[in-house]
Amino acid sequence: ALTVGVLALQGGFAEHIELLNRAAAGIVSEDFTFQAIEVRTVQELTRCDALVIPGGESTTISFVAQQSGLLEPLRDFVKVQKKPVWGTCAGLILLCDEANGTKKGGQALIGGLSVRVHRNHFGRQMESFATPVELPFLSGEGSSSNPDQFPGIFIRAPVVEEVLPHGDGPEVEVLARLANRVERAKAGLSLAQTKGDAGDIIAVRQGSIMGTSFHPELTNDARIHSWWLKQVISGL
Ligand code: GLN
Repeated sequence: ALTVGVLALQGGFAEHIELLNRAAAGIVSEDFTFQAIEVRTVQELTRCDALVIPGGESTTISFVAQQSGLLEPLRDFVKVQKKPVWGTCAGLILLCDEANGTKKGGQALIGGLSVRVHRNHFGRQMESFATPVELPFLSGEGSSSNPDQFPGIFIRAPVVEEVLPHGDGPEVEVLARLANRVERAKAGLSLAQTKGDAGDIIAVRQGSIMGTSFHPELTNDARIHSWWLKQVISGL
């Protein structure tokens, strides 16, 4: 039996639970029973084999986690027990070792990913956008004619601006980048959305930790959830 928790302090946790359940229903195997639970307490966290941290507002999630005594247990879950964890948007920010665009001392991170993230990279709410993104790791999922294309929803989204030295830990894998400036201009995105030429990093993985800049939980597409669950099952 696999129990996956979704941190339910603020943000899109209900949407993640729905997609996790859908993804799990598509994974048929004899000894696979699945449960997705909302996590608000240490007791609930302790029941989890893996955890999703949703999008929302990272300062709020971090504040509530601190107030409810969850921050240290979360750090332990991610960095000591090294159970699989996936953060989307605000969740990604919380899983990074360093964050830019945050008032000093204003936000306690969980950490674990040896990267520096840039919050609100594309600007304010008005500069939020949706664009198809290429996710090469999805090529085994589903049967669409564009197997690696995924609807990317970026809401005051962060990007990984630098991969930091990983010390003794596993290497940071860049799983996906946003198309470069020229391609984004072609897609009709505004200048604010076309910062950076190399193609900003929008998905990373380091050992048991994964992060995405965008919000798969706000789409109808369960392929990343399904891919991630299979990684978790195979003992990531
Ligand atoms: N900019 C937000 C933050 O810093 C993240 C936005 C999101 O999760 N949609 O928390």
